[in-house]
Amino acid sequence: MIVVMEKDATPEQIQHMTQRVEELGLKAHVIRGTERTVIAAVGAERGTMQESLASGPGVADVMPILAPYKVASRELKPEPTEIKVGSFTCGAGTVGVIAGPCSVESEEQIIASARAVKAAGATALRGGAFKPRTSPYSFQGMKEEGLKLLAQAREETGLAVVTEVMSTDDVELVARYADVLQIGARNMQNYRLLEAVGKVPNPVLLKRGASATMEELLLAAEYILNEGNPNVMLCERGIRTFESHTRFTLPLATVPYLHQKTHLPVIIDPSHGTGHTPLVTDMALAAIAAGADGLIIEVHPEPEKAMSDGYQSLTFPQFETLMKKSRRVAEAVDKKLG
Ligand code: PEP
Ligand code: MN
Repeated sequence: MIVVMEKDATPEQIQHMTQRVEELGLKAHVIRGTERTVIAAVGAERGTMQESLASGPGVADVMPILAPYKVASRELKPEPTEIKVGSFTCGAGTVGVIAGPCSVESEEQIIASARAVKAAGATALRGGAFKPRTSPYSFQGMKEEGLKLLAQAREETGLAVVTEVMSTDDVELVARYADVLQIGARNMQNYRLLEAVGKVPNPVLLKRGASATMEELLLAAEYILNEGNPNVMLCERGIRTFESHTRFTLPLATVPYLHQKTHLPVIIDPSHGTGHTPLVTDMALAAIAAGADGLIIEVHPEPEKAMSDGYQSLTFPQFETLMKKSRRVAEAVDKKLG
């Protein structure tokens, strides 16, 4: 249910109603909008709860949330969520750009990448230290050593760091080094991991599973939000279809669709979404035109020598071109890049 407070409800009334919601055995999430405050009351609703809450002090209305996801829904929060962390902002009119290599490979590689993407206008650095690889024989990432190099790159460039966490055992460790925790496509439905990242203060980049529906993605986000972490970015990274000309199929209708259903920012990953360097820039531009709140792009100093995903990584000059073109498309749709 949504407990809609009166426009002039006092902090005491909001506090009182939050307590009432919890006394009824429901979880309360207070959302302070520009117009008014609402309290999401989520959990098993019973009997006369709605009437009881409606008669509370400072309450304007109590309404059901029809969507299966509650805190993520646009019904609850009509205004778009803006996420800010260090150098990085996305949502509500700002297109954030996260760029860097698929994997952290060496000090030289990550520092050079950080400097180049920063110079081109990226606002966050990506780089995997814990890598989910299809084969156990492929490079698995530099682990904590990689996290230290990412922190060093942040130190040198000021860029916020986005990196993947694969296991509940590593959440505390990764959260200590990273600004944003990435949940990879393969872990979108690892519910214990979603709950664990819901308990830390870092924003989360939640990637869509390769065969997950929009509703499953939004319910996965709900797991994180329900633990009290309000800063979730949804990432479309392509889905598995019968088509084989691209690594995955990148559906851009997800951007306007998600904007109708949720207030959370939507980030597009055209690197994994296409799997081919020559296709990445055009799909990034299309994503911004479709309304994306951010991009995540793989960039490598020497893609042909990359230890993972070189075939879909951009060189530094290619990324610079992407940024120049992206700025113009963002302007055309009344958004700011960066
Ligand atoms: C990645 O970002 O390098 C990655 C492994 O992505 P995904 O989880 O979307 O496959
Ligand atoms: Mn990759």
